[in-house]
Amino acid sequence: MFPHLLDLPWWGYVLFTLVVTQITIACVTLYLHRAMSHGSVTLHPIISHFMRFWLWLTTGMNTREWVAIHRKHHAYADREGDPHSPKFEGIWNMLFLGAVLYHREAKNQQTIEKYGKGCPEDWIQHNLYDRFRNLGVLLMLATDVALFGLGIGVAIWAVQMAWIPFWAAGVINGVGHFLGYANYKVKDNSRNIIPWGFFIGGEELHNNHHGYLTSAKFSARKWEFDIGWLYLRVLSALGLAEIKVVAPPYDTSKG
Ligand SMILES: [Zn+2]
Ligand SMILES: [Zn+2]
Repeated sequence: MFPHLLDLPWWGYVLFTLVVTQITIACVTLYLHRAMSHGSVTLHPIISHFMRFWLWLTTGMNTREWVAIHRKHHAYADREGDPHSPKFEGIWNMLFLGAVLYHREAKNQQTIEKYGKGCPEDWIQHNLYDRFRNLGVLLMLATDVALFGLGIGVAIWAVQMAWIPFWAAGVINGVGHFLGYANYKVKDNSRNIIPWGFFIGGEELHNNHHGYLTSAKFSARKWEFDIGWLYLRVLSALGLAEIKVVAPPYDTSKG
C-alpha cells in the first residue's frame, strides 16, 4: 500500500469529493462569475484571494481568460461569435467537449484583451498564477495522493479535474442554452435548467441570469432557489461581501 494519511469508509471519500467540488463551484459562480465578470458583488479580499487560490489549485483556470470568454458569451449569446453555443456546436459536443471550446477561445488574444478588463494584476497573479499555471493542479494531485494513497488519491483528483469542464463548460453552457424553461424573454436561447439551483451553485437558473445580467441573485420566482445567493447573504452578514445589484422582484404578470 502506498503510504498515506487517511483511511476513510467509501462514503467518506464521496463526501470529501463532494465538498471540494462544491467549494470549486462556489468559487466559479461567486468569484469568477458574479463578482469579476458582472460586478454584481464585491468580495472581501480574504474571500477573493482564497477563491482565486482555490481555482488555481483545483482547476488551473485563469481569472482574466474566464472573465473575457464569459463576457464575450453574453455579448454574442447564441449568435455568430459566441465562444460556446449549442446552436452552433451541438448539444453533445457542448456537454462533453465544452472545455475544448473554452481553451480554444482562451488562445484568442483579442478576446482576452477586449473583454478581460478589470481582472487582478497583482504580484501573486503574475508571479504564481500566470507563471506557474499548472503547478496548482499538480499540488492538488500531490495532496490527494498524500491524503488517500495512490489509487484513491488519483481517482478523486481525476473527478475534481473533470468537474468544472463537465458541469460548467458542459451542462451550464450547453444545457443552459438548450433545455429548460424561461422566465425572461431574451434574444438568446438561455434556459433555467431546473428551478432549484443547488448542485451547480445556482447557475442552473441561466435564463434568469441572462434576463438580468448584473443581479447578484439568480433566483427570480418564489419557488426558485439559488444556493449562490444564500452563500452571498451569509458572506454579506459576516461583512465579507458587498452586494451591489439585485434584480427587482419578478413581475409575475409577465407569465
Ligand atoms: Zn454571466
Ligand atoms: Zn449563457
